[in-house]
Amino acid sequence: MKPKIWLSSPHMGGTEEQFVKAAFDSNWIAPLGPNVNGFEQDLELFLDNDCHVTVMSSGTAALHLGLILLGVKSGDEVICQSMTFSATAFPISYICAKPIFVDSESDTWNISPSFLEEAIKDRIAKGKKPKAIIPVHLYGMPAKMDEILAIARHYKIPVLEDAAESLGSSIHGRNCGTFGDISVLSFNGNKIITTSGGGALVSHNPDIVKDARFLSTQARDEAPHYQHSQIGYNYRMSNLCAGVGRGQMEVLAKRIAQRRSIYDKYYNKLKDKKGIYFLNEPDGFFSNRWLTTILINPDEAGFTREDIRLSLEKENIESRPLWKPLHLQPIFNCYPFYGDGTSEKLFQNGLCLPSSTNLNESDFNRIFEVIDSVFK
Ligand SMILES: *Cc1c(COP(=O)(O)O)cnc(C)c1O
Repeated sequence: MKPKIWLSSPHMGGTEEQFVKAAFDSNWIAPLGPNVNGFEQDLELFLDNDCHVTVMSSGTAALHLGLILLGVKSGDEVICQSMTFSATAFPISYICAKPIFVDSESDTWNISPSFLEEAIKDRIAKGKKPKAIIPVHLYGMPAKMDEILAIARHYKIPVLEDAAESLGSSIHGRNCGTFGDISVLSFNGNKIITTSGGGALVSHNPDIVKDARFLSTQARDEAPHYQHSQIGYNYRMSNLCAGVGRGQMEVLAKRIAQRRSIYDKYYNKLKDKKGIYFLNEPDGFFSNRWLTTILINPDEAGFTREDIRLSLEKENIESRPLWKPLHLQPIFNCYPFYGDGTSEKLFQNGLCLPSSTNLNESDFNRIFEVIDSVFK
């Protein structure tokens, strides 16, 4: 069997071990320390000098605290992009709130502003104003934040921005991860940079970030003994993981350029093939191209996305269908959904192609050989 080609594998830059070694040498083997502070500063510098960052054990943890800090409570309704990874919506259920799913639009594959507004109006008419809106920037492509924020402001509903897949993406120069009242990043092993596992909560409001840090470290009141007046969580990032993150920050710009050139490679190879479609960046939108994705029109191409996926799998090459919309998931299909079937169609015809930055020319030759064979 030829070696496995992964969809998106970790890619160390080289200095990560030095930061981890510094943690060992100074005995900061704890969920606090110089790497944690340093990684937070690196992220603040990268995103926007005006935002504040606290790093956590995962993006999911950051989404959970984000909802709590926006005041979402048991029984409240939260609007969530349907087409996304389940971790966007799981935290809504952690706090016994109710997800309201909204479809995608076809320019970015992210939450449709018009269905978003329709959903808000209908929920208000039914007697409950949603307590938060969660847009996602799938595969690095920014959602239509201008429209989404205008609607959110009009109805006075806070935005929890899931930027887990879009570190380094931007709209007219403004970075994803800085649009929400609260924004969330992920450093899971498959993301554009990784800490093995980790996440961050970002906000322009320093009090929110201070509160997030407080809740993520067991909500300890100031006292010599252990004193608690709120429920706490153990969600802080380890100083060892943050060391990996500091090293990864040194190569983030390079990784973004590499992911984008992987997209170009696929695009140039496949753009003229019948029935294959790529997702272009709308004017002013910049995608980190975390994963290169294609749509296959089976009527035009003469085969389906499963034909490509299974052929790649036979050669030990990982590819994956696009995210299955959450309103179609067994655990979530009982909740309201607003849309016209766009995300379902994307799921049926869409495929994520291997996009690891540590793939070499011979890896790409293997991938293209399989894809060419499907066309024959
Ligand atoms: C990865 C991811 C998350 C969860 O992040 P973790 O760090 O793995 O908990 C949330 N939302 C989206 C869209 C993701 O891709």
